[in-house]
Amino acid sequence: MKYDYLVVGAGLYGAVFAHEAKKAGKSVLVIDKRPNIAGNVYTEEIEGINVHKYGAHIFHTNNKKVWEYVTQFAEFNRFTNSPVANYKGELFSLPFNMYTFNKMWGVVTPEEAAAKIEEQRKEITGEPKNLEEQAISLVGRDIYEKLIKGYTEKQWGRDCKELPSFIIKRLPVRLTFDNNYFNALYQGIPVGGYTGMVANMLKGIEVRLNTDYLANKAELDALAEKVVYTGPIDAYFGFSLGTLEYRSVRFENELLDKPNFQGNAAVNYTDRETPWTRIIEHKWFEFGKDKNGNDLPKTVISREYSSEWKPGDEPYYPVNDEKNGALYAEYRKLAEAEKNIIFGGRLGEYKYYDMDAVIAAALDKCEEEIK
Ligand code: UDP
Repeated sequence: MKYDYLVVGAGLYGAVFAHEAKKAGKSVLVIDKRPNIAGNVYTEEIEGINVHKYGAHIFHTNNKKVWEYVTQFAEFNRFTNSPVANYKGELFSLPFNMYTFNKMWGVVTPEEAAAKIEEQRKEITGEPKNLEEQAISLVGRDIYEKLIKGYTEKQWGRDCKELPSFIIKRLPVRLTFDNNYFNALYQGIPVGGYTGMVANMLKGIEVRLNTDYLANKAELDALAEKVVYTGPIDAYFGFSLGTLEYRSVRFENELLDKPNFQGNAAVNYTDRETPWTRIIEHKWFEFGKDKNGNDLPKTVISREYSSEWKPGDEPYYPVNDEKNGALYAEYRKLAEAEKNIIFGGRLGEYKYYDMDAVIAAALDKCEEEIK
């Protein structure tokens, strides 16, 4: 065997695993079916702007170990995510904070806001059973109707009553004028883009792009003692137990000959009628400056459309509802019976992982695995 490890997928999980394996003196081959490394965090420079090709990625974590780990590979800027919600032309501050409550209800003090929420959450009695009930019990019906319902149903293609409540728990609710979207101690965007960061992780490691593992499995398996597979777990098993559901995303990118389109990196369109879920204006992830600190004259925007995954699409989000959870558990049993393979990452573990959690999971796996 030529390599100790064959890592399938050059995204964050694969790159961290490969980096650690190499550091421990193991031989590693990384393959990816795409023509580029970095998986869904891939960024590409267009007119001096680092465009997040597979959707906006804002690194945030409370895990100091992970923060120290990633900052070895890139310098991070001070970007703080503060998306704006556009509901039929009315703008609201996100996440739900005093600016949002003031705009929604005209309330001025935290007590007034709390009283409004209290009055509206009364309609939910008992433990919230789904996302709709969870949302109303967190922020009341007005905010649910204007800022949550439409966006969530577009993003997931499912009724809020059919979605698990944990999805909405990602969003903070604050009675302060703090519009930092994340409750995280550390946050930022790697200066120069994520692709450079992942390239640094993979420095000195052999990478073969445009290489489809499942289409050439026997031949590739023969190259290594062990495989680290970060693709969809159901695809690995030839969908033998049925297909897991994923949400996919499509982007319409536009280069505009103007310096400022929307004045913010992310604007969420929270009504049901607008067909896209959000528009990303990539230059604002780096404060509208090029690498020399000059103002960029143009801008690149991406309209994001959410759709149900079908074969041939890129899977982005696992649909972690009951039905899919049960099917995943069956695939997990098959995975455990398989020898010499590790399943990792958002697709390999069918989990709505954030970047920091993927890195933490890969580091944990390395600790357990690489002796
Ligand atoms: N969400 C919402 N309104 C918004 C933004 C988010 O209702 O304007 C809810 C929605 O249910 C969504 C979840 O919060 O699925 C997580 O959204 P986020 O944008 O954080 O997800 P990402 O796509 O960035 O992982």
